[in-house]
Amino acid sequence: MPMLTISLEAPGKFVALPDAPAPEVPAGHALVRVHRIGICGTDLHAYRGRQPFFNYPRILGHELGVEVVEPGDPAAGLKRGDRCSVEPYLNCGRCVACRRGKPNCCTQLKVLGVHTDGGMRPLIAVPAHKLHASATLSYDQLALVETLGIGAHAVERAEPAAGEYVLVIGAGPIGLSVVQFAQAAGARVAVMDTSARRLEFCRRQLQIDRLVDASAPDADARILELGGGEGPTIVFDATGNAASMTAAFKRPAAGGKLVFVGLVQGDLTFNDPEFHRRELTVFASRNARPETFRAIVAAIEAGRIDTSPWITHRLTLADVPAAFEAVAADPTLLKAMVSVPAEG
Ligand SMILES: [Zn+2]
Ligand SMILES: [Zn+2]
Repeated sequence: MPMLTISLEAPGKFVALPDAPAPEVPAGHALVRVHRIGICGTDLHAYRGRQPFFNYPRILGHELGVEVVEPGDPAAGLKRGDRCSVEPYLNCGRCVACRRGKPNCCTQLKVLGVHTDGGMRPLIAVPAHKLHASATLSYDQLALVETLGIGAHAVERAEPAAGEYVLVIGAGPIGLSVVQFAQAAGARVAVMDTSARRLEFCRRQLQIDRLVDASAPDADARILELGGGEGPTIVFDATGNAASMTAAFKRPAAGGKLVFVGLVQGDLTFNDPEFHRRELTVFASRNARPETFRAIVAAIEAGRIDTSPWITHRLTLADVPAAFEAVAADPTLLKAMVSVPAEG
C-alpha cells in the first residue's frame, strides 16, 4: 500500500512524501487508519507561520476520523474496524492538572498534529485510551468532534441553565461550536460579530435570530434589548481579539460569567470596580476533557447536535500541497475536510 504523507516543511510549503515508513506502535497505543482530517485555525496559523512555539517540519492533522487497524491495549476495549474520533491532547498523567481530572490543561500538554506529528498520513499510532468509538457516526462527524469539543468544554465551564440569556461574541468556527452547545443546553443564545456574512450564516444554518452587528454604534443597546432590558448572564468571547476581549468585561449582567474561549498572545486589563460591582466570574477554556469527547459523540448519535452546517470545503490528502492555499484564503471557509482515499 502506498504511504503518502503530507508534511508542512516550512511556512506556506507542504510537500508530499510518497514512501514514508509505517509508524512504530509503542505499548499502550493502537494503530489506526486515517479517513478524514479536519482543518482548523491552528493548521492555518502553522501554514502562515503565525503559530507560536511551532516547529517545522511537522505532519499536521489533529481533527481525525479514524478506523482501528490494530487495537493494541485490550483495556481500551477497542476492536479492529471500530470507527473513532481521536482526542489529540497528549498529557503526562502525573501533573497537578492530570491528577485532578483536567488533562486538557496538563502542564506538559502536547497536541497531536501540532507539537507531535499528526494525521496527514494513512496510518498513525495513538494512545488507545485517546480513541472514542461510535457505531453510527460517519468519518466526517468523527473528525468534527475535536472542533465541537472546544465549544462544548467552554459551555461546560459556564453551565448555562435552560432559558438563560447567553451572548457569544465571534461567529468563527470556535464561536459556532459554543453556539451549538449553548443551544443544546436550552439557553437563549445571541451572537455578535462584525461580519454580516457570518451573522447570516448563524441565522440560516443555526436558526439564531438574536444577532448583533458588533460594528454598529447601538450594539450595546441591542444586546440589552435582546435580553428584554437585561444583559446576558453568560458571555463567551471566541474572537481571539484583544480589543473585543477587553470590552467583553463590561458585557455580562450583575452576577454573570465571562468565558474566554479564544486567546491572545499578551496581556488583558480590566477595570476592577466594574468587575467587583457585578461580582463577575471569569473563566479560561482550553481544549476539552475525555468526558466531553464521549458526550459529544453521544449528542451527535442522538441528533442533539447537527453537524450538517460545518463542512464548507473538501479536498483529498494528495491535493493538500496544491490546493491548500486557495482553501486557506477563501473567506467562506468554515471547515475544510481532507479525505484519505484507501489507496494513498
Ligand atoms: Zn482544531
Ligand atoms: Zn499532566
